[in-house]
Amino acid sequence: MVAMDGLTISPLQWETVYRHLEACLPEEGCGLLGGRHGRVMAVWPVTNALHSSVRFRMVPEEQLKAFLWFEQHEMELVGIFHSHPNGPCHPSGTDLAQFAYPDVVSLICWPAEGNWEAKGFWMDGKSYHEVPVMIMAEGT
Ligand code: ZN
Repeated sequence: MVAMDGLTISPLQWETVYRHLEACLPEEGCGLLGGRHGRVMAVWPVTNALHSSVRFRMVPEEQLKAFLWFEQHEMELVGIFHSHPNGPCHPSGTDLAQFAYPDVVSLICWPAEGNWEAKGFWMDGKSYHEVPVMIMAEGT
């Protein structure tokens, strides 16, 4: 239930996210967010195995490494981020069909006039709804 409240990510973590996504252009970039109770504590960029501009699949070995690391640091998976270099600004049909993590926020990011923007979504395999994403330093 907690994750349904959305995600809180620090300005520095958000920068790590969009710099990775920027570096992946024109392909979709992706990665994992570890943390607790909707608060991001670690950003883990993952290689898009499909090297596509319209879909992504995380390299399984990198994903596994992230999951182990999160576990070792008493974090859980709180979010998955990926980019839509050419839109849309919400989950695509492919995202919905292939989404394998029912209990985390999907952070979808896109470049808008030189700036990166993001929205968080809760997906259940058939539909999605937006949840709040706050960019806020820890302890504020
Ligand atoms: Zn997508």
